[in-house]
Amino acid sequence: MIPIAKPFMGDEEIKAVTDVLKSGTIAQGPKVKEFEQRFAEFIGIKNAVAVNSGTAALHCSLYAAGINKDDEVITVPLTFIATANVILMQGAKPVFVDVEDETFNIDPTKIEEKITKKTKAIIPIDIYGHPYDYDKVKTIADKYGLKIIEDACQAVGAEYKGKKCGTLGDISAFSFYATKNLTTGEGGMITTNNDKFAELARRFRHHGQSEQKRYEYYGLGYNYRMTDICAAIGIEQMKKIQQINSTRINNAAYLSKSLKKINGITIPTIKKGCKHVFHLYTIKVEDNFKLKRDELMEYLNKKGIGCGIYYPVPLHLCAHIRKFGYKENDFPVAERLIKQVISLPVHPYVTKEQLDYIIDAFGELE
Ligand SMILES: *Cc1c(COP(=O)(O)O)cnc(C)c1O
Repeated sequence: MIPIAKPFMGDEEIKAVTDVLKSGTIAQGPKVKEFEQRFAEFIGIKNAVAVNSGTAALHCSLYAAGINKDDEVITVPLTFIATANVILMQGAKPVFVDVEDETFNIDPTKIEEKITKKTKAIIPIDIYGHPYDYDKVKTIADKYGLKIIEDACQAVGAEYKGKKCGTLGDISAFSFYATKNLTTGEGGMITTNNDKFAELARRFRHHGQSEQKRYEYYGLGYNYRMTDICAAIGIEQMKKIQQINSTRINNAAYLSKSLKKINGITIPTIKKGCKHVFHLYTIKVEDNFKLKRDELMEYLNKKGIGCGIYYPVPLHLCAHIRKFGYKENDFPVAERLIKQVISLPVHPYVTKEQLDYIIDAFGELE
């Protein structure tokens, strides 16, 4: 079986973890600080704050950006549930905007009609590792005085017109979950050029305490701290991320070169000026393809090719979100895409022979 994802781990990570275990400091300590510094440098940003998941990073970001009870926050229905759940965690209301057919990202032409007096922020996703349309969304955010909280969870190393994802918002969130391009098992990072937001995020990850003055509580917080064990893995992963991303990009290009010739298959788009890091290589199965999407998935699985549907349910139709009054057909593009998408393996352990095997599996259907 060619798995859809596999963490890229070596002896370096094993040694780094062992060293931390022997050091006597295993919770948040010097390794977390070093990981934050290296990450900030890589992204090209003033502040990076490490936490124990991407969800925690998003939650801290919403808190730092001042999202509160009864505020409205704009996002998309085609993303991982965490993006909407953190809005609920702050007592705010998720307001959805449909996505672009081509990039799967937020459709900037549909944002303005959803803005009300209660709207405080937009959370665009760099879905699958492709940056959202920053210039267009930023213009709207500025016009209405809205914050941008970038969900860069899938986009470490991706770029928009020379700017790295993680700088495309007032504050941004990354995930280091096991399947992500850079992983610490579980983990996350907040990036921002705003020093006040960074300080608020640091407090929120640490029960509302300032890291300078312990046991002085400024407000509600959580335990979202990263361990030095995870940070040590993260530091080693940082040294490999360029290699990991370029292998993914090359694997994606190799698949696309052949799959684009197949009737009824639409390969991923890379917009001009964008660097796509292919956290997921996602194709669309159109109506004129030989098999239905679910049949294709079954066929590939039988051939030992791991694949996945990201995501099978549009968020506005999840039971706990639907009760805000959403229904089928509210977001026709996202709802159609969710029936068309299928992601294929491009992680660094996929060999050229395996890519050829995947391409041949499609060829055999012709
Ligand atoms: C992975 C992911 C998250 C959540 O990250 P966790 O580390 O699993 O908490 C949030 N948003 C998106 C788009 C993601 O892909």
